Amino acid sequence: MVNQTTRVAIIGGGMGGLTAAIALTRIAGVQVTVFEQARKLGDVGAGVAVAPNGQRVLDKLGVLEQVKRAGATPDGHGVYLDSLGNLVAEAAWEDSAKQYQSVGMYRPDLVNVLADEVPADTIRLGHRLTSIQPLDTGVRVEFENGVHDEFDAVVGADGVHSVVRNSLMQLPEPVYSGFIAFRGVIDASILPDDWPMISQVWMGEGKHFMCYPLQQRKLFNYVGFVPSDRPLKESWSAPGDVSELAAEFAGENWDPRLRHFIQLIDKTFWWGLYDHEPLTNWSLGRVTLLGDAAHTMLPHAGQGVNQAIEDSITLAFFLKEAEGAEGIAEAFKRYTAIRMQRTAILQNSSRRSGSQFDEQNEFADIKKRNADLRAGRDFRRSVLFDFDAVKAAEKALKRFRRI
Ligand SMILES: Cc1cc2nc3c(=O)[nH]c(=O)nc-3n(C[C@H](O)[C@H](O)[C@H](O)COP(=O)(O)OP(=O)(O)OC[C@H]3O[C@@H](n4cnc5c(N)ncnc54)[C@H](O)[C@@H]3O)c2cc1C
Repeated sequence: MVNQTTRVAIIGGGMGGLTAAIALTRIAGVQVTVFEQARKLGDVGAGVAVAPNGQRVLDKLGVLEQVKRAGATPDGHGVYLDSLGNLVAEAAWEDSAKQYQSVGMYRPDLVNVLADEVPADTIRLGHRLTSIQPLDTGVRVEFENGVHDEFDAVVGADGVHSVVRNSLMQLPEPVYSGFIAFRGVIDASILPDDWPMISQVWMGEGKHFMCYPLQQRKLFNYVGFVPSDRPLKESWSAPGDVSELAAEFAGENWDPRLRHFIQLIDKTFWWGLYDHEPLTNWSLGRVTLLGDAAHTMLPHAGQGVNQAIEDSITLAFFLKEAEGAEGIAEAFKRYTAIRMQRTAILQNSSRRSGSQFDEQNEFADIKKRNADLRAGRDFRRSVLFDFDAVKAAEKALKRFRRI
């Protein structure tokens, strides 16, 4: 069995890598080291919604209360609006049991809360992975700063443009979707007093805008999704142009409330949005992937982080049972097989949601789009939010034990 002397390197100290560090330590009982290229954790960012399925895992890991304290729970369900602000549909925001409600998190807050839960001295900042090499005895990793080391196993949680994936596995890379996101936060105190403390999405032809509260409602997150032929690589820190964002949602076709919100924005960042067809494998021997490195998805289902969180606990349950070097490789293979089915559903559903919001493809028929959005609420609740990654891992493990 793996134990405290089993050394696992996690490449990437984002939300996925840090959750994996907690899960692998607390559930699998192995010794982890997290290598992050940035010199400071959680320095930059915008908002993400931690959904009920992600929260269920964080609860199991004993970190949910800390996460919720740093986030913002909205007043109720979110709304999908047309470009003029008329209600189209209500958005799902809690699981069927009403136990978990989506929480808006500022990325730096989430990263810091998770980092506080990782055993002291396990995070190495300023370590950019440049090379990874499987050996008979383990896996060798090398960093730009000259540091190198050998581990029993490596987890690549290094995001969309993963070096672990690209240098080791012959897998297709994510492709630019033709859309960018203008993203950032504003101080909630400058919003009109009656501004709803919920998630709102305005949908117009070819673009959409969303906002929701963060950080105990002190901040408001916003994202404007617009088409662009400039495939910017995601970085969490590329400055965007506020006037360009405002121009995208200007004019009488957009709700005056939304235009007022955009006028309050003084700083924005932008992201190129990348999409990935589901991969057929993401483990090689004692190296595996997790989060965006394994299954980049468009952000329209709000599930990228939540899937990385689900990956983390599944990986921990499988690794816990591994016997020796071959056992680790087998555990990674099984983890991949289980998670691939789930994440492929989310990759496809995220793409579909984007088309709905932007009135594209079959959803150019607005009546159909609106009916679909209303019906989609139950899908989101049952398929996305009610999913229990722990139960799914335990069930899969039982099945594998019988083989
Ligand atoms: C506009 C937008 C809105 C979104 N909203 C949501 C949402 O509401 N809910 C949700 O669940 N998801 C959302 N997402 C998706 C979410 O942000 C990602 O899925 C999530 O960040 C993936 O986490 P990760 O840890 O896999 O990767 P990342 O967060 O990208 O972290 C990767 C880490 O690896 C580090 N790294 C990279 N290369 C190296 C290297 N060579 N060596 C060392 N370190 C390295 C990076 O510095 C980074 O810290 C959104 C995404 C976008 C673009």
